[in-house]
Amino acid sequence: MSELSIRDLRVSIDGKEILKGVNLDVHQGEVHALMGPNGTGKSTLAYTLMGHPNYVVTSGEVWFKGQNILELEADGRSHLGLFLAFQYPTAIPGVSVANFLRSAINAKRRAANPEDKGISIPEFRKQLKDKMDLLQMDHDFAGRYLNEGFSGGEKKRAEVLQMAVLKPEIAIMDETDSGLDIDALRIVSEGVNALRGPDLGVLVITHYQRILNYIKPDFVHIMLDGRIVESGGPELALHLEEAGYDWLRDRTETITA
Ligand code: ADP
Ligand code: MG
Repeated sequence: MSELSIRDLRVSIDGKEILKGVNLDVHQGEVHALMGPNGTGKSTLAYTLMGHPNYVVTSGEVWFKGQNILELEADGRSHLGLFLAFQYPTAIPGVSVANFLRSAINAKRRAANPEDKGISIPEFRKQLKDKMDLLQMDHDFAGRYLNEGFSGGEKKRAEVLQMAVLKPEIAIMDETDSGLDIDALRIVSEGVNALRGPDLGVLVITHYQRILNYIKPDFVHIMLDGRIVESGGPELALHLEEAGYDWLRDRTETITA
């Protein structure tokens, strides 16, 4: 059973500390929701896990399959079985969604075995069709040019489809880069609901308090000011919907004062 294990992670941007000691474990087969108000560092965690160069790790480790993935390039993290959403290039002129996905599958296969000849076209077509059916996606989507004129929601769909075909053991999905984050959350949640099972662990990142209308996470974590200040089950999201974040802010201020 694979496990992503984040230990005392501290991250700075432009010399300002944003993540102030994050600890979190995500096992294969579990769906975790990371929630918190805007500006608390949720996307910073996602970008750090994907290896974005602007995010400077000042201390801590992130273990996956016996390796501290912070020492690997983004490609290496993905080939190990981590899926970090929005890791694909923003716009590649003239590359269809299908061609992009086939290259991604082949890159992963070659990383595991340099002799690999790549997935055959009929096998790829079959897998793509099966996954698009599972995700209730229109088959025409595969022929679209990647990200050219994609709406925020279509970018999210492309991400979810990429997750479906790459079959990662652990996936991190951040709602952010879509204009309408409630749409993004809905698309991500439907994808996760369709793909969830014993082989997939997921961390869904959202500030949207009514997440339970879309997905039933096994665990809920709340981030405030660069730290996870509370963890629990789905009832924690329910409580947030009623009570907001103030009770946690008050408590955290009392502890750190
Ligand atoms: P969240 O996803 O929880 O809304 P972010 O991780 O996007 O929060 O942002 C956390 C903090 O880091 C915010 O105060 C934000 O202003 C700051 N921040 C995020 N990205 C950058 C950046 N590229 N440069 C400088 N500050 C940033
Ligand atoms: Mg964010």
